[in-house]
Amino acid sequence: MTDRKGELAANLAQVEDRIAAACAAAGRKREEVTLIVVTKTYPASDVRMLSELGVRDVAENKDQDAAPKAAECSDLPLTWHFVGQLQTNKVRSVAGYADMVQSVDRARLVTALSREAERQGRELGCLIQVALDASEGGRGERGGVGPDGIEELGELVAAAPGLRLAGLMTVAPLTGVYAGRELAAFERLMDLSTDLRRAHPAANMVSAGMSADLEQAVAAGATHVRVGTAVLGVRARLG
Ligand SMILES: *Cc1c(COP(=O)(O)O)cnc(C)c1O
Repeated sequence: MTDRKGELAANLAQVEDRIAAACAAAGRKREEVTLIVVTKTYPASDVRMLSELGVRDVAENKDQDAAPKAAECSDLPLTWHFVGQLQTNKVRSVAGYADMVQSVDRARLVTALSREAERQGRELGCLIQVALDASEGGRGERGGVGPDGIEELGELVAAAPGLRLAGLMTVAPLTGVYAGRELAAFERLMDLSTDLRRAHPAANMVSAGMSADLEQAVAAGATHVRVGTAVLGVRARLG
């Protein structure tokens, strides 16, 4: 095993221990939580090693970085999640490799994703990104729709050809009433998920929690955690 692969294996084992402990503490089964490794800013060679180490879900947040990496790794049995703010002029590219888009936060994006999914004959799973710090009717600083916008956007996605409404995603807010209260934020996301599932029972994915707060996300009931730093190391550049 190369040094890098050994490092990734050790980090993965630590994250796995954390998830297992959080599941046990919450009385949840380990299988209820899926680890998504956020590989942004790291090379395709790392993605390949992660795949060899058993990782099945990876996430990226910038199309420029993700598109060539996904192409290089197209032979691997991976599910690709797009988790970054998405401009409509990148939708054509993203729809070519992403299996899930976790950052759906406005109607125009739904229309563009649907058109491209149809054109490319692909089905895209969509999560609505919720900004728990958004003002009423507003959007979050780092993307996301406020809680009052979920229902309408959910209907749009559910009705859009080529798209499948899969659930909700959030990033713990740095400002507003939930700043520093990750567990409360993720519990609020769970309540919003319960509301969404009344109309859309299959939209049962809840993506929350990163390296610093995955325990709180698992405690709240998240089905997916998105972990970058704890597996790959501290990123050299912003991403
Ligand atoms: C970078 C990123 C993560 C992972 O963050 P870490 O702190 O590195 O674990 C999770 N979700 C989103 C949306 C991200 O952009």
